Amino acid sequence: MMNAPSVPGKRRVGVMGGTFDPIHHGHLVAASEVAHHFQLDEVVFVPTGRPYQKSGRDVSAAEDRYLMTVIATASNPRFSVSRVDIDRPGPTFTIDTLRDISRIYGPDAELFFITGADALGAILGWQNAGELFDLAHFVGCTRPGHTLHDPGLPEGRVTLLEIPALAISSSECRQRVAKGEPIWYLVPDGIVQYINKRGLYQSG
Ligand code: ATP
Ligand code: MG
Repeated sequence: MMNAPSVPGKRRVGVMGGTFDPIHHGHLVAASEVAHHFQLDEVVFVPTGRPYQKSGRDVSAAEDRYLMTVIATASNPRFSVSRVDIDRPGPTFTIDTLRDISRIYGPDAELFFITGADALGAILGWQNAGELFDLAHFVGCTRPGHTLHDPGLPEGRVTLLEIPALAISSSECRQRVAKGEPIWYLVPDGIVQYINKRGLYQSG
């Protein structure tokens, strides 16, 4: 495991992209662990617009996913939520997320893109990998059910981080709601209440 380069005086900003349909404690633990490990000043959660990888199913309305992300992160002073991906038309690509966040936070911010083991594996397939690594340091977190291995990316641009294992996925949360099973304690309380209030995932 390699430590990320530290640039003195720069604001250290984590970027946690995701569909967040719904956001759950696996996302929050990953963000919190990376923030602690890399001494980040802030972690920005960025709900995707229309995720091109997930065209096979109906993703909940961007506004519902955005609000759930706000509710789940509101109590943490270092967590924030960005609308860049949901406000940009078309499918979300990580390169656009990083370009927008980089522009908003300016040259004094050092970006750390946070992904789970499954998503990191897909980095190899992304285009503009060179520019991705110019824009951010990548942090791949362990995730139960997924193998985290160094995908052979440029030296020093990716860190693999072991985090407390939470075998929670948004897919399983949605399936549980559809079957009438509880999701208490898999997601923050406010998310259970928001899902009920809006009747999300109930048709399965
Ligand atoms: P879905 O089941 O719909 O794919 P998901 O639980 O994988 O949802 P995403 O919104 O797809 O959630 O994930 C956003 C990011 O969070 C990804 O980088 C993913 O790897 C990471 N992540 C999600 N769940 C966990 C978890 N339990 N532990 C570590 N990382 C996670
Ligand atoms: Mg996923």
